[in-house]
Amino acid sequence: MPDHDINADLHCHSVVSDGTLTPEALAARAAANGVQLWALTDHDEVGGLERAAEAARANGLRFLTGVEISVTFCSETVHIVGLGFDAADAAVRQGLYDTRNGRGPRAREIADQLARVGIKGAYEGALRFVGNPELISRTHFARFLVEQGHCRDTSEVFRKYLTEGKPGYVPHRWASLGDAIRWIRDAGGVAVIAHPGRYKFTANEEYALFTEFKGHGGQAVEVVTGSHTPAEYVEYADKAKEFGLAASRGSDFHSPDESHCDLGRLPLLSPSLQPVWSLLADRVQ
Ligand code: AMP
Ligand code: MN
Ligand code: MN
Ligand code: MN
Repeated sequence: MPDHDINADLHCHSVVSDGTLTPEALAARAAANGVQLWALTDHDEVGGLERAAEAARANGLRFLTGVEISVTFCSETVHIVGLGFDAADAAVRQGLYDTRNGRGPRAREIADQLARVGIKGAYEGALRFVGNPELISRTHFARFLVEQGHCRDTSEVFRKYLTEGKPGYVPHRWASLGDAIRWIRDAGGVAVIAHPGRYKFTANEEYALFTEFKGHGGQAVEVVTGSHTPAEYVEYADKAKEFGLAASRGSDFHSPDESHCDLGRLPLLSPSLQPVWSLLADRVQ
């Protein structure tokens, strides 16, 4: 089978970050949906990877280690996916620990701001949705606000409360782009720009992101992903070629009730692209 025909899904989340399924349930769902090569990419955390690798074996899936690192670039949050790295690497673990560390105080600030617009108890409320206490995320606040009837769905919560300029938005400094890429590369993995179509960058800022990413040793970009439109598949296929980057494919699945795109259900990569997994053949478990 040619490389680009593989049903690879290299981006999704479990209860170890802000997904609602366990690593085991994700592996079973990926297998049922025809996924052949799978990676779990929890936010800033590798704590689910051993269970995921074991569940991948049990379900006949090939597996790559994964993580989605929160990075601050040009005052925006950018996500860098790492694939195929050694998850036991001490620098990776320390770097991710430091990145997670600001989430607790940030969550308290988010709750304080929400209280000022009349939404009480959001910190404790969000915590009820959290699987991993180190990884309280805006998604958990969104689920609490939906449960309390403030909004119909989590997208509406983000639109009304949790994005820049809205009453529950707290700016935060995450890892630096260079550090995130270095942690992944030094541990034998490949760094990937996640969902580039989601960032609100000007053309110059986006050019800077791709140029600096490449300069720091980044090797791939997500082309086919849950939040991209078909036009963006084409746009970022062109960008991959322009910058000499390999291409990745991943649903960014979080939950059967919230995600637009299920595991393994995206279009295949164009045969004109170099699949990121061709760089990772010796890292597949
Ligand atoms: P955090 O890492 O706490 O800033 O939360 C970011 C997470 O929120 C992302 O990984 C998504 O899962 C989720 N998210 C971001 N924007 C939206 C949106 N507009 N609608 C729904 N979920 C979103
Ligand atoms: Mn998320
Ligand atoms: Mn992301
Ligand atoms: Mn994601």
